Amino acid sequence: MSKFGCTCGNVIFDITDNLPFKACLLRNEVENAFWEEVHDEFEALIEAVESGEKAEIANTFGESSPLAKAMGGLERRLYGIHALRTSYVYECADCGRLWVQKAAGNQFVSYVPEEGGYQAILSATSGDSESLDCE
Ligand SMILES: [Zn+2]
Repeated sequence: MSKFGCTCGNVIFDITDNLPFKACLLRNEVENAFWEEVHDEFEALIEAVESGEKAEIANTFGESSPLAKAMGGLERRLYGIHALRTSYVYECADCGRLWVQKAAGNQFVSYVPEEGGYQAILSATSGDSESLDCE
């Protein structure tokens, strides 16, 4: 998604990296599967490296220059797992509405903050502002 319109009329653009109003959501129900898949990818690479089978490494993780390409292949595979298992969340910079992507498809559901307005809750520095602690 490159952009979509918020209910308040603001247009949310997603055309670059490091957005303070965007985050990924990893649902608890798939968290174990996510980490198992990450583990499996590392395990497969370690087994291939330990076997010394350059052809196996190249076949599974990428061709030529086995280890360097394998790391690139591993990164792409982990990115794929992350993309499959997470959903996006956007915070409207005008009204503070959270837009949460449903688990399947590209549909979003919105949630309005009780206090209203942009809270930068998805920003890496969101803990710097006054907020309720989760216990
Ligand atoms: Zn809005």
